[in-house]
Amino acid sequence: MSVQSKPIPFGCPVIGDEEREAVAAVLSGPVLTHGPRGREFEEAFAAFTGAEHAVATSSCAAALHLAYLGLGIGPGDEVIVPAQTHVATAHVVEVCGATPVFVDSDPRTGNIDLDAAESSITPRTRALAPVHYLGLPVDMARVMEIARRHDLFVVEDCALALGATFNGVHTGLHGDVGCFSFYPVKHITTGEGGMAISRRAAVAERLSKQRAFGIDKTVVAERRHSGAYDVELLGLNYRLSEIGAAIGVEQLKKLPDFLQRRAENFAALWSGLEGLEGLELLDTGGTERATSSHYCLTALLDDSIVERREEMIETLKQRGLGVSIYYPKPLPYTTYYQHKYGFKRGEFPVATRISSASIALPVGPHVDKEDVRQMVQIVTDVLAEMMDAS
Ligand SMILES: *Cc1c(COP(=O)(O)O)cnc(C)c1O
Repeated sequence: MSVQSKPIPFGCPVIGDEEREAVAAVLSGPVLTHGPRGREFEEAFAAFTGAEHAVATSSCAAALHLAYLGLGIGPGDEVIVPAQTHVATAHVVEVCGATPVFVDSDPRTGNIDLDAAESSITPRTRALAPVHYLGLPVDMARVMEIARRHDLFVVEDCALALGATFNGVHTGLHGDVGCFSFYPVKHITTGEGGMAISRRAAVAERLSKQRAFGIDKTVVAERRHSGAYDVELLGLNYRLSEIGAAIGVEQLKKLPDFLQRRAENFAALWSGLEGLEGLELLDTGGTERATSSHYCLTALLDDSIVERREEMIETLKQRGLGVSIYYPKPLPYTTYYQHKYGFKRGEFPVATRISSASIALPVGPHVDKEDVRQMVQIVTDVLAEMMDAS
């Protein structure tokens, strides 16, 4: 039995002296928000993704909320959302008073099933909300074609897709708005934080004002005198502080290296686990058109052992391997949505299989080559023991 000497957590932010010094520098000065680091972070993020406009926010959920608010989505409107995603993707639609319409996943990749998405369109549908699940871009050529045909907005949830491109264009720049997360286990972190990017100047400008109460001038220096402003729009306080932005500037410099390590870890883990009896791997490594950002490698357990997934996760943990589940329940079957809309069992079979049979393995930059070797060994051993017992 192999036991990992140094535990491998599922996610672990990689923070260095650069981030610590950048935070100390902010704390030594007078500007804690509305400052130069925020603009520097936005400019660097725009440069990395190729976006014309980038607006830093306090989280990805905040960015998504602003996106729908800015596009005027509200009561009576429907937004098509994958069933297999983070609850934020659907909650922001609900918070705007609109209705999320859930769609099942493609069994090969876990991304939204676009045939099912198209057949869910009604006269009330206003937007499509593709989520680049586990870092593999959704077929955005098809999404945009559907959106054009039905005159829909497209809000991309890119929380797991920083660094991922489709047809050479970064995720988030195909639709109207793309939203990113800097929560600690994502590709880069600012503690909490997010970013909205867009090709559309008017959309970005509106978002940027709504991020700060809808006030007409967001930078203190632009005001004629302290306290002089008007309120043009409905908005909230969804700003990212200078402290978060300073961390983000340093994290972005490391992103190319992080992405390369993710890609290498994913490839090594894939070749170590491919073909193992009892496991099926979700094909999220990317294609020629769709470059993945390799958020994690997700494996699905065979029906013969699926009932024992919790036990397997516990055993993996005891042997030093931290895993996760993306996501533990299809959203329509979470208490809130089930209670409100009353979904029937069996409506989302693929999302249900992914949430009940999958285990997500880490490939982040905190994982090195030796860790991957150990991971393959641990998973192989534990799986063999379970298959023998089944
Ligand atoms: C993490 C995540 C979010 C939420 O991001 P926050 O920054 O925590 O708001 C939204 N969507 C997806 C797909 C995520 O994975």
